[in-house]
Amino acid sequence: MTKAVLVTPAPAEPGAETSHTTGRRAAPDLQSEGVALTADDAHSEPVATVSGLPLPGASLAEVIAALEARYDPALAESWDAVGLVCGDPEETVRSVLFAVDPTAAVVDEAIATGADLVVTHHPLLLTPVHGVPATDPRGRVVHRLIRAGVALFTAHTNADRAADHGVNDALAAVLGLVDPTPLETVPAPHTDTLVVFAPVAHADRLVDVLSRAGAGVIGDYTRCAWQTTGTGTFIPGGEAHPAIGTSGSLERVPEVRLEMVAPSGRRAEVLRALHECHPYQDPGYTFFENAATPSRAGLGRVGELAGPVTLREFAEQVAAALPATTGGVRVAGDPDRLVRTVAVCGGSGGSLLGAAAAAGADVLLTSDLKHHPASDAGESGGPALCDVAHYASEWPWLPVAADLLHRDLGGRVRTAVSACRTDPWTAHVASGGDAAAPPSTGMVGGAAARG
Ligand SMILES: [Zn+2]
Repeated sequence: MTKAVLVTPAPAEPGAETSHTTGRRAAPDLQSEGVALTADDAHSEPVATVSGLPLPGASLAEVIAALEARYDPALAESWDAVGLVCGDPEETVRSVLFAVDPTAAVVDEAIATGADLVVTHHPLLLTPVHGVPATDPRGRVVHRLIRAGVALFTAHTNADRAADHGVNDALAAVLGLVDPTPLETVPAPHTDTLVVFAPVAHADRLVDVLSRAGAGVIGDYTRCAWQTTGTGTFIPGGEAHPAIGTSGSLERVPEVRLEMVAPSGRRAEVLRALHECHPYQDPGYTFFENAATPSRAGLGRVGELAGPVTLREFAEQVAAALPATTGGVRVAGDPDRLVRTVAVCGGSGGSLLGAAAAAGADVLLTSDLKHHPASDAGESGGPALCDVAHYASEWPWLPVAADLLHRDLGGRVRTAVSACRTDPWTAHVASGGDAAAPPSTGMVGGAAARG
């Protein structure tokens, strides 16, 4: 078992190498002293943990709220299966392992490293099942996780389509794209503004608890709240059990009017947290549904490189930026063609070929491209193509999401990226035995298979 890539400071061996399975630093610009930093986060200080002391942890429910505040399940495709697969929301989580796929090897790693939660991009149970018997490979994974007390959570197309820090943003970032925008936008999930009135002394605690339930996230900022103070008045009724005041007497209480934004999809959780924390028997509150605003959410990204490079050089940059895979980088197009406008889509992005062309992309980088669409793109003068391993195109999201979770939970939970390479392809043999076949451009040698 190789060591997981630590993306948060942890009480591990001093100087432990933050290396990928291959020993390469797969996304060197995302890691600094064992801490993954996105460009947007580079201004903020890493949340440090004290070596040797156990982390306080957070409830699984809090961890889920933090993940869903970043990767709203309302953004997921209708056919998708995201969220909690197994685990008790009341259990404490101190260590989280991020991986692309919930394979048996990833579960081995989670158990061996003492992880309480595995967060994967791909769902374990995408297609409906009638049971999870241990005789079935997927059922066996469920059995092992539950027996070991390890929870499993999936953020799939909601992470693909997230407005910020999603799979496509991460892929664009490691390639150095400037100001990337979605190739295919989707409306942002609906949000509420919660307005609640509470005694002044309870305001900070209320903000903390509501934040843990998923409220207060605006872009890169968490625990966002607005407070104004005033005087609340009320007369408790004869059957009331007031926390402040007595039945039949007019009370005047110094209160705050607290306002926080929250995903509409988490209204029930936010309301539950409000009732659990608020001192009043019947708190005063209102949810206002916010009007739709321009969205950065969507699939794929298109942006510019800092300067034009040849397709050959771009493919080499891709190969250097992504984790090593057996298949490396396949390229379609003139290797000397200059490219600057780059479209990317983590995972199977062949359906975005038209959008990439419409966006003026010189090249589309994605995975699982099929023969006919790739051929048609070349014949029609469309973008050049870079086809990489599905796993590799989604891997850059792992350290980003791991670092965000660590920060969003105030450093209470340690996060790490799996050392497992879950790309299913295990060997590559260059073809060319048929002397009658036309030669390739020979470009692949510089940018390809790194096993
Ligand atoms: Zn995928």
